[in-house]
Amino acid sequence: MRTLHWFREDLRISDNTALYHAAQQATEGCLSVYFITPTTWQQHDIAACRVDFILRGLRELSKELASLNIPLLILECETFADIPTLLLKTCQQYKIQFVHFNQQYEFNERKRDEAVIHLLEKNNIHTQGHHDQTIIPPNVIRTQKGETFTIFTPFKKAWIKYYQEHPITLLQQPKKQLSMIANTSTIPATIKNFNSLVASDIWLAGENAAQKRLRYFVDNIIAHYKKWRDFPAIDGTSKLSPYLATGMISPRQCLQAALEFNQKKLDSGNEGAIQWISELIWREFYKDILLNFPRVSKHQPFKLITNKLQWDNNPTYFEAWKQGKTGFPFVDAAMRQLQQTGWMHNRLRMLVAMFFTKQLWLDWRQGEQFFMQHLIDGDLSANNGGWQWSASTGTDAVPYFRIFNPITQSERFDPEGKFIRQYCPELSELDNKSIHDPYARGDVFLSCLNYPKPIIDYKMSRERVLKEYKALT
Ligand SMILES: Cc1cc2nc3c(=O)[nH]c(=O)nc-3n(C[C@H](O)[C@H](O)[C@H](O)COP(=O)(O)OP(=O)(O)OC[C@H]3O[C@@H](n4cnc5c(N)ncnc54)[C@H](O)[C@@H]3O)c2cc1C
Repeated sequence: MRTLHWFREDLRISDNTALYHAAQQATEGCLSVYFITPTTWQQHDIAACRVDFILRGLRELSKELASLNIPLLILECETFADIPTLLLKTCQQYKIQFVHFNQQYEFNERKRDEAVIHLLEKNNIHTQGHHDQTIIPPNVIRTQKGETFTIFTPFKKAWIKYYQEHPITLLQQPKKQLSMIANTSTIPATIKNFNSLVASDIWLAGENAAQKRLRYFVDNIIAHYKKWRDFPAIDGTSKLSPYLATGMISPRQCLQAALEFNQKKLDSGNEGAIQWISELIWREFYKDILLNFPRVSKHQPFKLITNKLQWDNNPTYFEAWKQGKTGFPFVDAAMRQLQQTGWMHNRLRMLVAMFFTKQLWLDWRQGEQFFMQHLIDGDLSANNGGWQWSASTGTDAVPYFRIFNPITQSERFDPEGKFIRQYCPELSELDNKSIHDPYARGDVFLSCLNYPKPIIDYKMSRERVLKEYKALT
């Protein structure tokens, strides 16, 4: 039997369910493929830095696969629609009888897979999709009525109970194959229209880099995670999101490392580990929502009534927000972190998303799209979940009247202005008090700074938001 593993968001060899089964089943060789689909990537707003990260990850992956005698073919076509025929042709060329892949839960990805399965099966090539993206497969954690949980806390409780009854073990490495001759193509260094401005040494790509960061996090950070995770100037979170989003590490490997640190306990023991495990469960929660409420993949709010909100169309505000020139230092530093590194700290993602929706009164969908276009860890379920949480349009969202104040958030979570100074160097000479609200002391004081005045009066915009949301109820 000759098998094929189709790589998508699972760019690793260890603990990779579909790859493991493809290698296990193969008796006469196992091949692997990855599709580069630039037009679809553009339609899906995939960030240039993420494409660069993927290409670098593929280079690492192909070396690992070569040691197992599994060739990696890189196939280029414009869109998902081209994949079924191209994959069939490849299977026929290499006499592949069975294709394995790990499932994706986004709407277009599921449609693509249905088309592939249909065409391959029609041509006597068998297919099997595996659950791999989450620790517990979506749709397993259900309410007593058998429905999808739409509130996180009961989901988490049920998730923990299920895991305690069904703990997982990691898969062994895929077995080494008989060697197979294939026309492996070189992995391109860049893709047209995806020119990353993020320095590639900020995010080392590949499975080994991911494992190293996990080890570092568990050895040095996890114990303090609960205390440190809200302070963007501290290296206090795992920064594993780019690796999880591209599958360079599996969520099971992350959980396993946390459990080993925490004497196998999920919801007791070290408070940092408990909190971190909870974040991994948030990830699972949003995947479940994505699968069961496909409208969230299609620019629709989870709470349909919020479609009635009339967002402003204000290109000047949008531009100021994008460029980190709103006149609110914590917001601006965050947006510049995104542009410069392709990543943003979680507290800041919540802050800038709330600022965008509830203070600038701009449509969350525009902000969600801009994030996707710039995030190295862009993930539809988490990004959509985060934006809708912040805009109070989503499942288990923050109540509409809870609006982060950009100045008090700054004073609380960046008390010495360390983070602001890093990304807004024009403010670096200000003292620890003024740096959060430079214009509070008047224009004269700032005449020497090249920093904008606040674009809005956040107290007035708050009143408007409360009025608009109240009108819905
Ligand atoms: C507006 C907004 C947009 C977001 N967009 C994304 C996105 O595109 N991709 C993405 O991976 N995360 C997103 N998040 C969630 C969160 O901000 C990031 O996962 C986190 O900042 C990544 O840093 P870390 O790896 O150090 O996280 P850690 O704090 O170390 O957490 C570990 C892992 O848990 C998962 N996780 C943590 N928080 C969340 C959460 N709230 N929702 C879902 N998963 C979570 C991530 O996979 C993360 O890597 C978004 C949050 C908001 C508020």
